[in-house]
Amino acid sequence: MISRREFLTVAGGAAAGSFLAGRPQILQAAPNAETEFGRVKIRDVKTASVKLTYYDAHLVKVTTDSGITGIGEAYRGPGTIDWIHNIKEEVIGQDPLGIDYLFHKMMRAGSGADARSGTLTGAIAGIETALWDLAGKILNVPVYVLLGGKFRDKLLIYHDTGSPETVETGPWVEEARRSRDKYGFKAMKFDLNPFKGQRWNRTLSSVDMKIWVKILEAIRGELGDDFPLSVDLHWMYNSRDALKFIQMTEGMNLWFLEDPIPYENADALARITRATKVPICTGENLYTRHTWRPFIEKQACDIIQPDVQRCGGLLETKRIADWADLYYMPMACHNLCSPVGTIASGHVCAAIRTFVTLESDSVELPYWQDIIQHDGPIYQDGYLVLDNKPGFGIELNEDVCRKHLTDNRGFFE
Ligand SMILES: [Mg+2]
Repeated sequence: MISRREFLTVAGGAAAGSFLAGRPQILQAAPNAETEFGRVKIRDVKTASVKLTYYDAHLVKVTTDSGITGIGEAYRGPGTIDWIHNIKEEVIGQDPLGIDYLFHKMMRAGSGADARSGTLTGAIAGIETALWDLAGKILNVPVYVLLGGKFRDKLLIYHDTGSPETVETGPWVEEARRSRDKYGFKAMKFDLNPFKGQRWNRTLSSVDMKIWVKILEAIRGELGDDFPLSVDLHWMYNSRDALKFIQMTEGMNLWFLEDPIPYENADALARITRATKVPICTGENLYTRHTWRPFIEKQACDIIQPDVQRCGGLLETKRIADWADLYYMPMACHNLCSPVGTIASGHVCAAIRTFVTLESDSVELPYWQDIIQHDGPIYQDGYLVLDNKPGFGIELNEDVCRKHLTDNRGFFE
């Protein structure tokens, strides 16, 4: 803000040049000034895989000739690390600020003419995420600023609970209690799947349905009617049985119900979504905006659930969410990362208008929080609070990471 005295000085014609010379550098940004673009070049991309409860966290470090490094996390699963080392030649020597260009350069090089494949997309997302961290550090702003600015200061986290493999209601109620009271979560999800892997024909009997209703009623009894409670059916059932069960839950005020049928068929899911009052959610298995297209255009779900690392990275997530908002479909972000990928996801969630909640996985792992350096708990009272530091503001806890390495490439070697 220019003060009245400064304005009068300039308006009076007295030494406009000396006025500019006395201003902070940010107000001197003139057309001829040099920018940060073109000054930094990527030197290498390195990886470290750290054991989580069910998966490995594939961490990615992008180094530069300026000494600044960016940290990211790729999607889980075998083959990801190989893809990262296979594709990194596409970004070495490039300016890290050209993030979208480099994303498409990697996609084109890794698969014929931009064809999408799961592991490749998840690997590229790890590099893309680290590029955002680098960009924030080079430009000295948090990543959410680069993505358009934050809509909120803190993000509601929902807990993907350790759903008990039993039809008895007691352990389910105990799990809900532990999630709320021990970890402080204010929203949670249960995998209603006590018959894991046994139903090749995708049927769900009326006996099973009644057992699940009983389990949900018991959990509701513990949490109360207004606690955000959601259910994941893990793509297990046929359309008719899934719908019959979903309609039995319509009086339970479920927050959302996730993946009732296999994920590929947008028309089949749209049929279920239109036939029930329960909000239907899907998306963790979809890669890039291209595979999202039928689900958004057909309004196949009520709530979208992209996974930042699986769908291609931060910018791809924002593109998908902004597109879904044309149909007023909000976003509940999927996440199973270490704190690195969780906080990275948090930055894009902060910058997405329609964000509702971000998932938390593996938090029961004793060293989960300690993968990064932190003061106090990472989740505060059920929320992720983002700070104002450059990039993601993350420093790895090297001792903890080294202790739980799973890949023979070592710690960013
Ligand atoms: Mg799920």
